[in-house]
Amino acid sequence: MPTALVTGSSRGIGRGIAIQLGEDGWHVVVNYCGNQQAAEDTCAAVVAAGGQAIAVQGDVSKAEDRQKLLDATLEWTGAIELLVNNAGIAPSVRADILEADEDSFDKLITVNLKGPYFLTQAVARQMLQQPQRGQIINISSLSAYAASVNRGDYCISKAGLGMMTSLFAARLADDDIRVYEVRPGVIATDMTGAVKEKYDRLIAEGLSPIKRWGQPEDIGRAVRAIARGDFPFSTGEVINVDGGFHMKVL
Ligand code: NAP
Repeated sequence: MPTALVTGSSRGIGRGIAIQLGEDGWHVVVNYCGNQQAAEDTCAAVVAAGGQAIAVQGDVSKAEDRQKLLDATLEWTGAIELLVNNAGIAPSVRADILEADEDSFDKLITVNLKGPYFLTQAVARQMLQQPQRGQIINISSLSAYAASVNRGDYCISKAGLGMMTSLFAARLADDDIRVYEVRPGVIATDMTGAVKEKYDRLIAEGLSPIKRWGQPEDIGRAVRAIARGDFPFSTGEVINVDGGFHMKVL
């Protein structure tokens, strides 16, 4: 079976993606930044689902770690057929854009945008050397278009992922490498744990037409569907997995 590198798959959405790929028998590189035990737990869950998995530490914001991730993947199976750019962080403090500082901006852009951009560049170069090529999926957010004035850095990083999707999709289309963007809505993970009560209320009040929290499995199922290669005449495509949040409803 082919090999997928899923960044930030020790927990949350990435873990949901890794398990769904495992159900289709993929070899999954479970990347983590600091939480090795969680990564090993995810590997066990991938294997239980029917796939193969290894845990590889690496901070996507560091060039040497991105190379380490690719090297470890190739050392394991000799090829990479799917890159899922999922790793991402929220600002440590939600601060109004008139107050928010440059350190937070730099960190969010480096982890959420620069990291995936250059990891994609490296992986695309590798895929071009493989006869079977591959696919790339970027996990952005409804924050790519919904303005939250208390986390401008996060919104800009996710909007940037939208353009990154278009750029790599356009560049790689002739080479038979498809690039997609999955935009999650509000998903129950550690990232949203701190604002759970606020979102419980907003969801009950109708934030999205489908009135429930999204689960990591919801994103995983969308990624799994794309990974099967069933969208061969689509690239640069955005798939909203958000309970219908993106619709304008009157
Ligand atoms: P999460 O629960 O906080 O998990 C984050 C994952 O990313 C962990 O596996 C973490 O590894 C890893 N990670 C963090 N920084 C990293 C780095 N520099 N290099 C490599 N891995 C790193 O987050 P989540 O909610 O699953 O979010 C996953 C993605 O979905 C993010 O890009 C996020 O912006 C996006 N998203 C989330 C939501 C939501 O509602 N949750 C909505 C829209 C979009 P460790 O375990 O080692 O710390």
